[in-house]
Amino acid sequence: MTSENRVAVITGAASGIGRALAVHYAGRGVKSVIGTFTGDPHDPERTLHLVEEAGGEAVIHEVDVRTTASVEAFAQRAIDEYGRLDYAVANAGILRNSPLQKLTDQRWQDMLDVDLTGVLRTLRAGAARMGGGGAMVAVSSIAGGVYGWEEHAHYAAAKAGVLGLVRSVAVELGPRQIRANAVIPGLIETPQSLDPVNSLGPEGLQRAGKDIPWGRVGRPSEVASVIGFLTSDEAVYITGQALIVDGGLTVKMRA
Ligand code: NAD
Repeated sequence: MTSENRVAVITGAASGIGRALAVHYAGRGVKSVIGTFTGDPHDPERTLHLVEEAGGEAVIHEVDVRTTASVEAFAQRAIDEYGRLDYAVANAGILRNSPLQKLTDQRWQDMLDVDLTGVLRTLRAGAARMGGGGAMVAVSSIAGGVYGWEEHAHYAAAKAGVLGLVRSVAVELGPRQIRANAVIPGLIETPQSLDPVNSLGPEGLQRAGKDIPWGRVGRPSEVASVIGFLTSDEAVYITGQALIVDGGLTVKMRA
């Protein structure tokens, strides 16, 4: 069976990796529900335009992954609009800088609510609506997934947690032929990493890129294509895994 006529829900698809994934799917006949979060200034219409330009089909749906009801309605939109759900991609995430002594319980909770519990809500709502198999991908990070990152303990903890979540869900849903995997992006140029306060910013990315074996930071499409692979039938026997997409950043030995 080809991916033609399959349906995906993607959180955080008004920008960055999520947008690139909707475009990737558009070129392969996969219809998308583009999750957009109104708390951010990103433009979901731009994603829709790019999807249509690529010959695909999608609808925009507002979703806040901090609320179970919102995520349930988001996943349901796939059924209401297209009559099925095949792929659920928990891509939405936030990144905040906070030294340990300023990492209050509230800041910790706020981060985990989006970057870990938000992933649970997305996978749970997706799995409830998949019949006859399906595939899910959660977006982790080299921060937490591989490395520690100073002043980002809450982000790293959430992203490490995503890996345990995905492995367990993969075991539980295997008998239903639903697969669950994670991607671990390295440094990818998106609104998140271009934020100079909470992440590296444009100059920091430029600098960091020189130290990556591939010679530059990654593009959103370079992560999206891996998520696309993991959800596709090409990866039908891969489940519970985490794939690092980082241009060799994490395998380079440093003195
Ligand atoms: P991005 O900021 O463009 O995308 C994140 C998306 O999540 C945005 O569209 C945002 O509106 C959405 N979002 C934020 N809070 C939300 C909420 N409460 N409900 C629903 N949506 C919400 O940045 P990106 O880099 O494309 O991020 C995608 C994923 O990749 C994130 O999980 C991020 O942590 C992860 N990641 C990014 C990098 C990188 O270098 N860019 C590296 C590792 C992991």
